[in-house]
Amino acid sequence: MKRIAIIGGGFSGLSAACYLAKDGYDVTVYEKNSTLGGRARVIERGGFTFDMGPTFYWMPDIFEKFFADFGKSASDYYRLIRLNPGYEIYFGEQDSVKISSKLEEIYAVFEQIEPGSSIYLKKYLKRAEFNYRVAIDKVMERPGKSPLELIMPETIMSVSQFITSISASVRANIKSEKLRQVLEFPVLFLGAKPSRTPLFYCFMNYADMVLGTWHIEGGMFKLVQAMESIAKRYGAKFITD
Ligand SMILES: Cc1cc2nc3c(=O)[nH]c(=O)nc-3n(C[C@H](O)[C@H](O)[C@H](O)COP(=O)(O)OP(=O)(O)OC[C@H]3O[C@@H](n4cnc5c(N)ncnc54)[C@H](O)[C@@H]3O)c2cc1C
Repeated sequence: MKRIAIIGGGFSGLSAACYLAKDGYDVTVYEKNSTLGGRARVIERGGFTFDMGPTFYWMPDIFEKFFADFGKSASDYYRLIRLNPGYEIYFGEQDSVKISSKLEEIYAVFEQIEPGSSIYLKKYLKRAEFNYRVAIDKVMERPGKSPLELIMPETIMSVSQFITSISASVRANIKSEKLRQVLEFPVLFLGAKPSRTPLFYCFMNYADMVLGTWHIEGGMFKLVQAMESIAKRYGAKFITD
């Protein structure tokens, strides 16, 4: 049996371990820390457990797809709670915008801050939904070896969205600096600046406002434990420290 060593037990290493072990390889994960999870590890102090990194559970459909590949569902491992508000952005001590789990309430907040802005938001989210389906159903499954993988009828149709940035579109249509920042915020999760991120990535706003912000009861580490248990079920070994 072919042996595979995976360096690092964060989500990437754990995911690779699950798929490769399932495909019959003899997998060993080497993690330099004493616990798995990478950025998603936890610390325990005074009877409390703290998530060290991620807390926003976005795009729950992707997690479901992962678990389905192993004949499981997220609910086999943890309970998900949709947060309301999903989160709150602070501009000053008494100055914040709540992102509700209900789209109608988000439209109302936009209207309250800038009359007419919800019309743009509705159009923007419609485009974001289309892009989300293209990105998740078609682009994400490709190996990521060449920019040419991005070329497909749906992206050719959207070519202008690869020339315009998120900031350029948002700032041309929304006057309120707060609302601009609300719409620009989600691409920060890509490690990117909204001014340098193509408008195509507005699907992050669909993930945010439509699919919502979820929380794992017991914290993000439950996901780490779930992935570890799947990898082990297929025979993967873990060496920490
Ligand atoms: C503060 C913070 C908040 C975040 N919030 C969110 C959020 O709300 N939602 C979200 O989706 N994402 C969030 N993220 C991003 C998310 O946490 C990361 O994208 C994800 O955890 C990265 O996983 P990874 O496996 O790619 O990398 P890592 O988690 O960095 O894993 C890499 C692993 O490799 C190990 N390693 C490195 N070198 C070696 C070596 N030579 N030998 C052995 N082991 C090695 C490391 O110890 C680590 O465990 C956040 C990140 C941070 C830091």
